[in-house]
Amino acid sequence: MLVFNADQVADLADELSGESATSSSQIQQVLLAAKQVNGLSIKQFSQLLSPAAESFLPQMAQLSQHITQQRFGKNIQLYIPLYLSNWCNNICSYCGFSANIKQRRTMLDMAQIKLEAQAILAKGYQHILLVTGEMPKLAGVDYLTQVVKFLRPLFKHISLEVQPMSVAEYQHLKAVGVDAVLVYQETYHAQTYAQYHLKGKKADYQHRLETADRIAQAGIDKIGLGALLGLYNWRFDAIMLASHLSYLQKHYWRSRYSISFPRLRPCLGDIPQQNLVSEKQLLQLILAFRLFNPQVELSLSTRESAAFRDMLLPLGITTMSAESSTQPGGYAQANQAQLNQFDIDDNRNTQQITQVISQLGYQTVMQDWHASFSR
Ligand code: SF4
Repeated sequence: MLVFNADQVADLADELSGESATSSSQIQQVLLAAKQVNGLSIKQFSQLLSPAAESFLPQMAQLSQHITQQRFGKNIQLYIPLYLSNWCNNICSYCGFSANIKQRRTMLDMAQIKLEAQAILAKGYQHILLVTGEMPKLAGVDYLTQVVKFLRPLFKHISLEVQPMSVAEYQHLKAVGVDAVLVYQETYHAQTYAQYHLKGKKADYQHRLETADRIAQAGIDKIGLGALLGLYNWRFDAIMLASHLSYLQKHYWRSRYSISFPRLRPCLGDIPQQNLVSEKQLLQLILAFRLFNPQVELSLSTRESAAFRDMLLPLGITTMSAESSTQPGGYAQANQAQLNQFDIDDNRNTQQITQVISQLGYQTVMQDWHASFSR
């Protein structure tokens, strides 16, 4: 079972936030190590998150680009989320689907899913991420089984971002065709987690933390991890996320992993302001993550602006969402106002994004080839 020494990490994150905690020569040593060995220690990763590392961002970017191209080539995988339901039992104060928000809710039936799938296929996607709020009585394993069985012949890669489940439930969903499951801890700081997750199953920090173990034990090919940047000190959450990844890779080495970097976005919920993460800090985090772990997929969503995504694209990112709608039925009935989970920032269509990818000398990949071969 995963056990973190959160107090030690909190001390380290506080120390790193201080201007003089890490010296320039220490950063230079870490960058030298990143050139010579495959990956960095948690301590070295932590040092790359310090204020002292900010003046080394150009060197970090160059190295991150080189390492990413060595491992992944000049390819960017595109995927699109399909929101199936905005019903949710939980109260998470930063989310537009939170149960306390009194708005009309929707769950797509099979006829509506067919229309959404047709609209998504017409855009050229083969990699789809199915998303629901957390209401297992409605959008539970039976519903998801029906949806995955219907979509499986149409798409090459199916990921899920839904409520945490048991090992047996994940095994069942793998058997009907699920390739990947994403579960973000939101924040690894237990007290802060309790402040924002006020009601429902998600309020159980430990149950959520151990979800990735259950996904891996079920033999799901790929596991997506992340923290919602802006809930707590980003350095603390980044170090904990990196530790979580290292733990999982050590214990469940057959699974592949991806890391996402969602920042808080406007929605109908309350957005806390005190820990917001700047673009410069997010850039630093992504570059540090690449140097820490050259093998892991790094994913960036449409939460970020077009200009920022274009700048980051050649610097370490391997996977991006595009043309996302965060409300159920948002592709086939784009003009219908529904409850959405959060506002996106990059509103370009798929063609515009693939053009940018191509102009930067990269190739757009519309499916996960590894999943297709291993299926
Ligand atoms: S973050 Fe997830 S669990 Fe929490 S309210 Fe939103 S959809 Fe529900």
